[in-house]
Formats: sequence, structure tokens, C-alpha cells
Amino acid sequence: MPSHAAVDTVAAADENWQTLLRTAIRSPEELFAFLELSGPQIAALDPATNEFQLLVPRGFAARMRKRDPDDPLLRQVIPLRKEREQVAGFDYDPLRELPLTRGGLIRKYAGRALLVTTAACPVHCRYCFRRHFPYSEHTAAREDWRSAVEDLGSATDVSEVILSGGDPLSLSNRRLTELVQKLESIEHVRTLRIHSRFPIVLPERIDSGLLHLLTDSRLETVMVMHCNHAQEIDESTAAALRALRSTGAMLLNQSVLLRGVNDDTAALCSLSRRLLAAGALPYYLHELDPVAGAAHFQVPRQRGFELIEGMRRALPGYLVPRFVREVPEELSKTILI
Ligand code: SF4
Repeated sequence: MPSHAAVDTVAAADENWQTLLRTAIRSPEELFAFLELSGPQIAALDPATNEFQLLVPRGFAARMRKRDPDDPLLRQVIPLRKEREQVAGFDYDPLRELPLTRGGLIRKYAGRALLVTTAACPVHCRYCFRRHFPYSEHTAAREDWRSAVEDLGSATDVSEVILSGGDPLSLSNRRLTELVQKLESIEHVRTLRIHSRFPIVLPERIDSGLLHLLTDSRLETVMVMHCNHAQEIDESTAAALRALRSTGAMLLNQSVLLRGVNDDTAALCSLSRRLLAAGALPYYLHELDPVAGAAHFQVPRQRGFELIEGMRRALPGYLVPRFVREVPEELSKTILI
């Protein structure tokens, strides 16, 4: 049951997440200095910036190990020269979403619709499948939700709306409230799913305004977080997840299988256990989407199968995520194992 009492205890610890985002680390040099990496360590990494700029909140950087160029969190955010390599099969719209997008709304799966709400994110993940997405032309906020909400109103088969982006929690509570109220006014919409990396990388975003919004909504809420490694969850993250649970939301996690980050049975088992301790269940382990600039993260599919088998031997079934890939023409995720 939603609990305002739990919400109010969190309110006392509210931080201004927008200030924290404004003061996030935005250059590799600053991140290297923060992590006390040496010149030879930096040279071995071979960093090189490009138009998808580095963005890392300081709280997330603080969870990285100092003086370790192989840190699994650092690997997710650091732009490397390798990103410039052209690799066959890796392209700019790997899921072929653009032809399906209208007014920021993507209709692909039966009964569900996805809203590209904003271009903004709390962190820039180098492997992101939307890293080249032309957000300036395709966010629902651009038209003040109008076209998307009209289309949803006439799509009576849609019972679940997925807020995606960018990261939908980049929107202010005021903007989110406007949007959620519009969705609530559509009778056939029953479920609100929010895909967000904020609870993990900038847990201060889970503030009292957001918690009240979720608690008071008539929509069933599913929060699908994105966490790839147990080291991403510290006490501040766990507290944010507990607060989210107090709203009555269901918490699920999706991860991407990434070379040099989590392609290891022990790392994936630790992640599942840590998620459970924080109140979330592992839901999907995604095979990397073949987006240009991310080929160096690819893990062979056979290795993915071995990792899942290893998890099955070590964990109860509910802590083993489904290993999936997104096939552009398919009407649901393809379960690999
Ligand atoms: S937060 Fe999500 S949308 Fe933003 S860069 Fe990371 S994976 Fe992509």
C-alpha cells in the first residue's frame, strides 16, 4: 500500500537534484583528476571525445574506484577513440525506431505505447542505443504532449504507456505531473511504466514531489530501472529504491551485457543479490543493441548463454534475468534463453 508517512521521511532528505545535475562532471580530464588516474593509465585507455559528450553526476563518480582504469562504472561512461571505428552491422538507428515514431510516440508492441519524453539524461552511457536519436525532431514534449495524447486517446487497445527518452525523470515534477494527469484522463490507460536510470545514478531525483505524484496516481506504476553492476548501488541508491517502493510502484531492473563491465558470472550474481536487497528484481539482461560507436562493448552470444547458466546454478530462479535481444521487426523482445 502507498504510504505518505514513508514519503514524508524522505522529504526531509530532499536534495536539489537539478543543481546536482548542473554540477555533474562533463569532461574526461575532470573525471580522470577526480579518480586520480595516472598519465600512463589514461594513455592506455585512449580516450577521445565526440559529439556524445561525457556526463557523470559526482555521486556516481564517487562510486568508482580511484586509480583503477578498469573500473566497471568508469568503462560505461568514458568516451574512447574506439567509438570512431566503423564496424559492420553497427548503425545509427539500430532498432529502426524512426519510421515508427510520430509526435514522440512509438507504437510497436500490442497494448503498449512508448513516449519519447525528453532528450535529457542524468548520465551518458556510451552503449546507449538512442545515442544518435534525433531528439530535437521527435520528443513528445516538443508539442506539449498534444499529438501523443490525442493518438493515445483514440488507441483504445493501449492500456500501458511507457515513459522513455532520454530519461523521463529529467522532466521537472511540474512537467511530469502535467503529463501523468493527461494520461490519467484517458480511461483505457491503466499502467504507467517509467524507464529510468535516475534512481541509480542520481538517487536525489527521487524527491518528495515525485513520490507524492506516484503515490497519488490512479495508474499502476512500474519503475524499470537500469543498473549494470552491483557497485552502482550504494546506500543512497538503496534508500531511493525503498522510497519508490513505498509509493506502491513495482521495481524491476534491466541491464545490458557489456564487455569489461559485467561479462562475468560473479558480477551478475552480485548485481541480482544487491537488487533484491534494495527491493528490485532483475528483469532483463539485454544483448547489446548494435549502435554505431559501441562495438567494443559486444559480448559473444554464446558467452551470454554461459553466464546465464552460471547464474542459474548459483541463484534462485527469480534472481536470474531473461537474456533478451531486441529485433527491429519483432513485436516483442526475443528471449534468447
Ligand atoms: S540514461 Fe538511458 S537513455 Fe540516457 S544515455 Fe543512458 S541508457 Fe541512454
